[in-house]
Amino acid sequence: MTNAAVRTIPTTFTHATQFTLPYLYADLTKIFSMSQIEISRENFFYNINQIANKTQSLEKIALVLKDNAYGHGLEIVANLAAKAGVRHAVVRKMAEAKLIEHLFETVLVLTDTPLSAPSSKIRVAVNDFGDIERLPKGCSVELKVDTGMHRNGIEPKRLEEAVEAMEEAGLKLCGVMTHYRSADEIGSDFFWQKKRFDEVRSRGEKLGLKGVRWHSCNSAALFRSGTFEEDIARVGIAAYGCLRMPKPFNVPKFRPVMSLWAERIASRDLSVGARVGYGGDGEIEKAGRVSSYDIGYGDGWPRAAYTLPDGRSILGRVSMDIVTIEGDDERVCLFYDAAEAAKRFGTISYEIMTGLNPAIKRVVV
Ligand SMILES: *Cc1c(COP(=O)(O)O)cnc(C)c1O
Repeated sequence: MTNAAVRTIPTTFTHATQFTLPYLYADLTKIFSMSQIEISRENFFYNINQIANKTQSLEKIALVLKDNAYGHGLEIVANLAAKAGVRHAVVRKMAEAKLIEHLFETVLVLTDTPLSAPSSKIRVAVNDFGDIERLPKGCSVELKVDTGMHRNGIEPKRLEEAVEAMEEAGLKLCGVMTHYRSADEIGSDFFWQKKRFDEVRSRGEKLGLKGVRWHSCNSAALFRSGTFEEDIARVGIAAYGCLRMPKPFNVPKFRPVMSLWAERIASRDLSVGARVGYGGDGEIEKAGRVSSYDIGYGDGWPRAAYTLPDGRSILGRVSMDIVTIEGDDERVCLFYDAAEAAKRFGTISYEIMTGLNPAIKRVVV
């Protein structure tokens, strides 16, 4: 991965360093990573197509690229997205926005405070009244409204007050948004939150806000909505092919973009009763060949029991950089679908994918 990222390592993590971990790691991939994450270009393009069918235009997709593009590699996915015709991106930090802004028309930064106003392409989210004081004059912003998740955003009733305060602070308001707390679950939450947001929107329109985009949908909300009528949808997990929704929602099939591979380090023949790994937890039940592979919890792979997609199990405990598996294939696939792997670990695909060490090589296939 080519990376024009931050090369200097700050000694203190002050507000001014504007530095995030993936960019430090990016250069290390050359040094120690043998395991590999494969990114399927075809599946990614397929998913973007499905999403554009729903939004009815590529221009209405804001692709969420936070956290190293959900572990897929920020610059890799940003470049693929630009090729696919996606024009808007969402990230967490300024450092990410700066790496990819040349590829998009707008980049929304979810949680950061730039020291001076960035280019007008970059819009910074206002999550709180305090942000209005902190953000530099001339900065383009999008206001987050808390319609019920109670995480970020201002109270709906304070919209007018916020608009006035932003004007006074010299901030340029370019968008108003909210976020759903349970768009991927059956229930009424989605509907009353949407209703609150629609009310905010009609008040905003009465204020005569111009050049402002209105958006509330993540992947789940987009695909549970009937027709999509907002200006843009902030789509993450569907683009990566791991959106899971309860059956009644009738969501199109997406294709997983990421698969995880490990390479063989060493092999040996073991007889019944031999014990593999720390604590000797992995007892051999059938004599035969076993091999070690170069992935472990140090790579962000969970330290837990696991069965590979081909039905073989990890033998014994996961080490920091090693797992042992029956057989002697040159490489093994840990998962083709992070959502399936996540289910076995009792978590969600987001956690598995973003947990993978940014130092693991990412290759587009
Ligand atoms: C992460 C995030 C999204 C994307 O959610 P997905 O479920 O991955 O589609 C959208 N909006 C906000 C505010 C987010 O933090």
